[in-house]
Amino acid sequence: MTHSDILIIGGGIAGMSAAYFLAKAGKSVTVLEREDQPGYHSTGRSAALYSETYGPKIIRKMSTASRAFFLTPPEGFSENPILSPRGIIMTAKPGEEAELDAILSEGRANGANFVELTPAELKEIIPVLHTDQIAKAAYEPDAMDIDVHALHWGFIRQFKSRGGTLVTKADVSAITRESGVWTVSLSNGASYNGDIVVNAAGAWADDIATKAGIPPLGIVPKRRTAVMVDLPADVDAHGWPLVACLDETLYFKEDAGRLLVSPADTTPTEPHDVQPEELDIAITIDRLMTTTSIEVRRPGESWAGLRSFFADGDPVSSFDPADDSFYWLAGQGGYGIQTAPAMGEYAASIITGNDVPPQMEKLGITKDALSATRPTLASGKQELQ
Ligand SMILES: Cc1cc2nc3c(=O)[nH]c(=O)nc-3n(C[C@H](O)[C@H](O)[C@H](O)COP(=O)(O)OP(=O)(O)OC[C@H]3O[C@@H](n4cnc5c(N)ncnc54)[C@H](O)[C@@H]3O)c2cc1C
Repeated sequence: MTHSDILIIGGGIAGMSAAYFLAKAGKSVTVLEREDQPGYHSTGRSAALYSETYGPKIIRKMSTASRAFFLTPPEGFSENPILSPRGIIMTAKPGEEAELDAILSEGRANGANFVELTPAELKEIIPVLHTDQIAKAAYEPDAMDIDVHALHWGFIRQFKSRGGTLVTKADVSAITRESGVWTVSLSNGASYNGDIVVNAAGAWADDIATKAGIPPLGIVPKRRTAVMVDLPADVDAHGWPLVACLDETLYFKEDAGRLLVSPADTTPTEPHDVQPEELDIAITIDRLMTTTSIEVRRPGESWAGLRSFFADGDPVSSFDPADDSFYWLAGQGGYGIQTAPAMGEYAASIITGNDVPPQMEKLGITKDALSATRPTLASGKQELQ
């Protein structure tokens, strides 16, 4: 049986980014991934967006802390740039102006660049938009697309080149601990030993904890749907920013000459290989046709993925309160890709007994803010989305 310093369960972006930084810190690491493709679940189903103004507070800080890695990744990490220009336009309906203003002033205070657009200017950029129900809009030119595959496989390749082991088709079925050593057993009969277990199982994070005899944290997976739509021949969407309604009912972005459209649904569900529901596809198309002049006769391919949340909407990255050899790396919500470099580095630092990395400390990231015992539930503060 192989023994590693650290066993990571889950080979999505969370597990692989932590694995990369742990291997870089000189640890022996084995990642156990149930599927034959490590990006099969949430990591491979995202909208691939990077925005420093999107998401709750710690997420925004983690996104900012990730920027340097995205812009100048380590040598040999990726052949192509990981980020490419996209931009976001947020639209506010009548009555939502103050909400948009609040986002703009907070973003600007943190150095974000926003350009306010009148409905007429908006129409010039996205001619298909019905602007009669839009009171105000803001353009964030610095939002980027992420090449998720390049990022994920950059972590995997460099992790392996440092001696790390990624085992696929490794369905973790039992987790026990004896004399300070974890034994993680697979449904195919194999088992692995390690000193520390990192739970990076995404939607299955609570399930993995339960298998290890650790109380679950109440991580809730929520389904989100995406549908591809063909554009009429006379609509050239090349270079369009992503358009998002402030009330989180719809967003769309150009993708290889078509539109990727999502109703921004957040339906709580059990962890499973989630598929899109017919009703959600119909809602997506209906909202697109109400918001734009695009006629959709037949939707293209669609998919759904799970975005998993802790109670207050921010992620958890800490040892379990009752067991300092079981580490939670969970609850990345809808932001796990754009925060992965900083979240991976942070987790590796804490797991190896170090403190919050200095560049993150400067941004105001604290251990308390990411701990599993932070007082969100006690205070009743909920930022579920
Ligand atoms: C439609 C949609 C749009 C999104 N858009 C964005 C976006 O624009 N920007 C952004 O930053 N984020 C976005 N996200 C969120 C992002 O995709 C997630 O936050 C991120 O992928 C979570 O990564 P993860 O590694 O935690 O989860 P996953 O990728 O799901 O990885 C968890 C892994 O654990 C494995 N696992 C589970 N149980 C076991 C077991 N028993 N044994 C072995 N392995 C196990 C699973 O097989 C899985 O591969 C979006 C998500 C969705 C669904």
